[in-house]
Order: sequence, then C-alpha cells, then structure tokens
Amino acid sequence: MSEWCQNKKCPEKKNQGQIRGSKGAKYYQSNKSSGYYEYWCSMGCRDAWWIEHKNTCIQAVGFIDKQVIHLADAWYVEYRYDYRAEGHDRYHLKNLLKGVDQSITREQAQTPEQIANENWWYTISDAQAKELAVTLGLAS
Ligand SMILES: [Zn+2]
Repeated sequence: MSEWCQNKKCPEKKNQGQIRGSKGAKYYQSNKSSGYYEYWCSMGCRDAWWIEHKNTCIQAVGFIDKQVIHLADAWYVEYRYDYRAEGHDRYHLKNLLKGVDQSITREQAQTPEQIANENWWYTISDAQAKELAVTLGLAS
C-alpha cells in the first residue's frame, strides 16, 4: 500500500500544499492518501481514478446476474421521524410486495441494545423483521 494518492493527475490540482523544492527548482507533488479515502487524497481523485480503471475492476471482480428478493423475504422495519407522533407510530413493519405497512412498537422494532444506546433510527435486521412478521401472524 502506497502512502501517496493513487490518482496520477493529483499534482495537476496545483494546490499550495503540493509545492515542494527550493527556489528555481519548485514542483507540485501528489498529496498523501487520506484515512477516509484510503487510497486517494479526496473524492475528486478517487472519482478520476475510478473513471480510468472501472473496467479493469469489474473484470477482476466478475459480473453477477440480476439479483431478486422474493415476497417471503421482503420484510423490513422502517423508522419514520415525525415530530407530531409522540413516541408512537414511528416504527413500521413493511412488506410492500405483500401490501403490508403496519405500525409496531419500539420494543418490536429495535434490539435491547439499540434501545439502550438511544439509537432511535436503528432497527432490527430484515431477517429479524421476517421473524417478527411470523410472530405477528402476518407471514408463515
Ligand atoms: Zn489526490
């Protein structure tokens, strides 16, 4: 892994912070890669790299076929923020393929950890949502 931004055109940004060398022999250099962007210094450099190398990447990873989620697995819990809904009606168990959009309690929508951590917008996994649907008699 290189400590330098992987966009070969990074020095062309010609930012003040990229200047090195002594008077008469100055030059622009690549930025160092940043923690967040990992291999690049910025989103712009990552995008430039991606445009140039996306075909190589997709060939290396391989193509996949169309993916589907069937009706029986289409359950999920949605958190809807509504300042008017005083604590209730914020969580919904949904399966739009089945035409279900049911209000559920916070205790049903979240794990005990999520409730303890006050992460209002987190919800149980889709697999847990499916189990909840069975428990509530909405699915078998
Ligand atoms: Zn860069």
